[in-house]
Order: sequence, then structure tokens, then C-alpha cells
Amino acid sequence: MALFPCVAGNHKYVGPQQSVYLAALNGTFAARSKQRLCPEHLADLGKWIEDHMEKIAVDNEMHVQLDFDHGTCYECDSTEAPWQLFANVYRLKQPQVDYYARSCSTHLEPFRQTARLEL
Ligand SMILES: [Zn+2]
Ligand SMILES: [Zn+2]
Repeated sequence: MALFPCVAGNHKYVGPQQSVYLAALNGTFAARSKQRLCPEHLADLGKWIEDHMEKIAVDNEMHVQLDFDHGTCYECDSTEAPWQLFANVYRLKQPQVDYYARSCSTHLEPFRQTARLEL
């Protein structure tokens, strides 16, 4: 079986590849990252996402069924929440699960660190 690198801690692992795509959008600015993770680190990241973001339904053309004009920060409930956060979790033999949250400028940072995004 092949060895894969896990982006969390850059260690190698044997096993199926599972990944999470993360993105932060603000107006025309977009930062994205793809996280290929070992099962343990995928569980960690998945838990953070579950705890902080809302599950969303995406149609076949990837249109998000959501009103983007409204929303409050996932952490402090501020209505000044210009950042749109997305996560797509690809677990082994499971359908893709998509998540969405909004964030204020302050609480972008915990997401950025979790997502390992370069802004
Ligand atoms: Zn790992
Ligand atoms: Zn906030």
C-alpha cells in the first residue's frame, strides 16, 4: 500500500486518502487550500468544522442553496462578518459533505490556522 503525506505535521501514513477542501472568500479575494489528511487528523479537522460551521446542501451545479447576504460570525455572532468560509469534506466511501460559515475579521484567524490557509 502506498505511503501518503499528511499535511498536519507532515508525517507519512499508510491508508486511504481522505481530504478536506477549505476556502475563505471576501469580495473578490479568495484563499483556498486542500488538506490531504491521515484518518486521525481528518477526524480532528472534521470535528472543528462540525463544531463551528453549518452543513449546507449544494446542488448538481455546485450552487449553494444559501442566502449569502445574511449571516453572523460563527464565533461572536457579529453581523460584521465579511468572510465566507467553506469546507468540503471527502471521507472514505461517503458522500461529500459541505459546510459554510461566516466570520468577522477577528475570527478569521482561528479558521485560517485550522485550514492552514495562506492569506
Ligand atoms: Zn496526520
Ligand atoms: Zn467574530
